[in-house]
Amino acid sequence: MDKKLMVILGGGESGVGSAILAQKKGFRVFLSDSGALGDAYRETLKTYRIDFEENGHTEENILTAGEIVKSPGIPDSVPIIQKALAKGIPVISEIEFAGRYTNAKLICITGSNGKTTTTSLIYHILQSAGLKVGLGGNIGKSFARQVAEESYDYYVLELSSFQLDGVYDFKADIAVLLNITPDHLDRYDHNLQHYVDAKMRIIRNQETEDALIYWVDDPLVTKEIEKLKPAAIRYPFGEKKSDHTAAYTENGKLYIQTKNKIFNMELELLALEGMHNVYNSLASGIVAKLMDVSDEQLRTSLSDFKGVPHRLEKVASVRGVQYINDSKATNVNSCWYALQSMRTKTVLILGGVDKGNDYTEIEDLVRSKVRALIFLGKDNGKLHAFFDGKVNEIRDAGSMKEAVDAACELAQKGDAVLLSPCCASFDLFKNYEDRGDRFRECVRRL
Ligand code: ADP
Repeated sequence: MDKKLMVILGGGESGVGSAILAQKKGFRVFLSDSGALGDAYRETLKTYRIDFEENGHTEENILTAGEIVKSPGIPDSVPIIQKALAKGIPVISEIEFAGRYTNAKLICITGSNGKTTTTSLIYHILQSAGLKVGLGGNIGKSFARQVAEESYDYYVLELSSFQLDGVYDFKADIAVLLNITPDHLDRYDHNLQHYVDAKMRIIRNQETEDALIYWVDDPLVTKEIEKLKPAAIRYPFGEKKSDHTAAYTENGKLYIQTKNKIFNMELELLALEGMHNVYNSLASGIVAKLMDVSDEQLRTSLSDFKGVPHRLEKVASVRGVQYINDSKATNVNSCWYALQSMRTKTVLILGGVDKGNDYTEIEDLVRSKVRALIFLGKDNGKLHAFFDGKVNEIRDAGSMKEAVDAACELAQKGDAVLLSPCCASFDLFKNYEDRGDRFRECVRRL
């Protein structure tokens, strides 16, 4: 084993960032990817003169590493990781690696839904308040690359369960745990507890002066907190005020209570709509108050946040119909929140690659709010089996244009057309961004 050799597996954003940081810290670096690298990443590695290979792994180079940084997209079950682990080589995530080289205060957000929105909102609030803050993790530029090249006082990091799987000594100064609902179980032996355990690594190493912000109405989260008894100071948030809730809503206002002070704001003034976004705003508000952001500044930021593309994004109003892009809703739970936030009759476009969905969760909302359903997918059989007979108007669409044209025909003035697919997009699109972009284009051409 060569202690000075750092092997990076996976040449995407996190891998290339880790390679740059490792080189800067004096390691010999070798990056290996089983597939082809993106052109921009290949060029970056060449510019930095970092040794790399693509389209395959050379075992003899990899298995002499002192440590391996693994990209979150690679499961532990692949042979190269199994061989490394069998040889006793530590395998860590980019987050663990970069965390070693910064003294910045780390605000870390995890959960099954709402991570990107909440991370972006917290970043917006802190940046608007004039703090020197970076945004990273599962979003934008990698944390490792920023640690190598920037000098921020704070980082707001979105952490997926896969990133948390590879943390050991990493510590979040402020941890935000939004919710836990079953997701990605294929990577967790179809065992919900394994996925829950990964999420709960967000509190690992937290000490008594650190903060843990969590959604108190989530039974899975509260059960885990009872069990694990975290050392950090707890800031629960929930819909209603109860014992010790740091943030809650009451009579159309949100309240945030920290250090004996109470901040309040009309829910109507929040930039983000929908109950799920009230939760995201409550969590973000607690972070802001822990960071001493002024009431005035917080109020402004919560009301002027522009939102994140593809999450309940208002695209346009065409002849009195509001078109909303929620392409990121790739599971039924996300679609439930989207439908719940609709204030008008809605034409819902859904479908794609079903990951084992149970549509019962949205049945009541569909019956009460949906004027028509449009199934957009290669195979709509499961959707028909569930919804036929429950909604008056159902159409099939084989392309986004067909779906948007049908929605335009079926929607009445004052309605909304909502793309909130419950499904992955790979049957007809490159990814959810591509699906949302196509929706936007088709709406703008109406
Ligand atoms: P993530 O990064 O965790 O995937 P996003 O912020 O991208 O989450 O939001 C994805 C979808 O999840 C949104 O389109 C929205 O419908 C739903 N969502 C957002 N916040 C929450 C929340 N707090 N609880 C449940 N669902 C949410």
